[in-house]
Amino acid sequence: MGRAFVYVILGGGVAAGYAALEFTKRGVSHGELCIISEEPVAPYERPALSKGFLLPEDPSRLPSFHTCVGANEERLTPKWYKEQGIELVLGTQVKSADFRRKTLLTAAGETISYKILIIATGARALKLEEFGVKGSDAENVCYLRDMGDANTLVDLMKSFPGGNAVVIGGGYIGMECAASLVINKINVTMVFPEEHCMARLFTPKIASYYEDYYKSKGVRFIKGTVLSSFEIDSDGKVAAVILKDGSRLPSDMVVVGIGIRPNTSLFEGQLTLEKGGIKVNGKMQSSNSSVYAVGDVAAFPVKLFGEIRRLEHVDSARKSARHAVAAIMEPNKMSEFDYLPFFYSRVFALSWQFYGDNAGEVIHFGDFSGSTFGAYWVNKGHLVGSFLEGGTKDEYEAIAKVTRLKPAIENIGELERQGLGFALAI
Ligand code: FAD
Repeated sequence: MGRAFVYVILGGGVAAGYAALEFTKRGVSHGELCIISEEPVAPYERPALSKGFLLPEDPSRLPSFHTCVGANEERLTPKWYKEQGIELVLGTQVKSADFRRKTLLTAAGETISYKILIIATGARALKLEEFGVKGSDAENVCYLRDMGDANTLVDLMKSFPGGNAVVIGGGYIGMECAASLVINKINVTMVFPEEHCMARLFTPKIASYYEDYYKSKGVRFIKGTVLSSFEIDSDGKVAAVILKDGSRLPSDMVVVGIGIRPNTSLFEGQLTLEKGGIKVNGKMQSSNSSVYAVGDVAAFPVKLFGEIRRLEHVDSARKSARHAVAAIMEPNKMSEFDYLPFFYSRVFALSWQFYGDNAGEVIHFGDFSGSTFGAYWVNKGHLVGSFLEGGTKDEYEAIAKVTRLKPAIENIGELERQGLGFALAI
């Protein structure tokens, strides 16, 4: 049993949706393109799962957040794929890939062949078991990567109104889930090993602003320690979380956000890997010239910083996917991918954006007791990164622009004095 396509996208997440739109813009013919996804639904904007999806009133539900609404583009519903003649093979896991024969084998036993393959398998949530803690399969423990997880989280929040939740991990997922739990009137304790939240990006000063804000909403922080075990009750549910420092936190539910791992296992030994992902060139092409990789699973050259990076952010998934399709469809016209790393988050009434690299010396600016503040990073004499909370559209555009220009900074004191004005003047 088998089907054959010119183009196959393996994975049906954010990158797949944006790639599909780009294929149609560049004139793919009916029956040429197929998307295979383990998920039962057409590609959607994954960031919605920790934001609008968790709201107690009028939560976002599909079809409202199918790609590509996140970039103010068309919303690609299952009907759209049908009209475009794009085959959506949903609820289907690919078990193996044979790059010599150019075939993929699905769990249902079907062989799907391609001329060009785009790998968009994203990443999976790291499990506590990988750190030696047992019990994360209990029904009141959840992770958050796909819609199934988000539905579990919504059900748990509804089962324990006014209850206690422990959030393990102080990164993106932990921070956004904690805010949503509070909005759903659940008491939240956050536990993480670092000295402050969002440790990979925030400076202590920036983190302290958000932690104070969260505390004002009732969130309790336990920092510098990790979970050591779960106390399981007679129903098999987690009744309490036990920490390494010996403390015991009674809990009705636990949300775990301790990082992700790119889904590369099918390709190990067949493609060159780097930084935990599939190494690609500036056209998003892997070590096999018929195979491209995009989104969270791709490690690509970031020209601006002269090195290979793997990014775990939605904007890079969208843009790398579009770039790969453009390179496939019009190989002679395409230049190398020239991407400015960008990420953002929205929690409560707060909203921040970050561009570039958080390396080197940090220069904070703005009013940290008010609502608009930020930071620049200056490395080897150049501005390389910018962060802004509470900015306007123009202000965000200004920090993006200044970061891309990487201006030489001769006088740090002057940059500090000008603050946001420095970006706005460029
Ligand atoms: P994914 O969107 O993860 O898609 C991968 C797809 O591949 C999935 O459909 C998966 O089922 C499928 N797949 C994997 N293996 C197989 C297989 N063997 N067979 C078949 N199918 C397979 N980024 C930001 O910049 N800002 C945010 O605010 C933000 N919020 C987020 C909130 C949440 C809850 C999550 C989980 C992520 C968030 N992100 C955010 C990150 C962003 O969503 C990811 O960077 C983006 O989804 C990556 O797109 P992708 O297509 O590479 O992978």
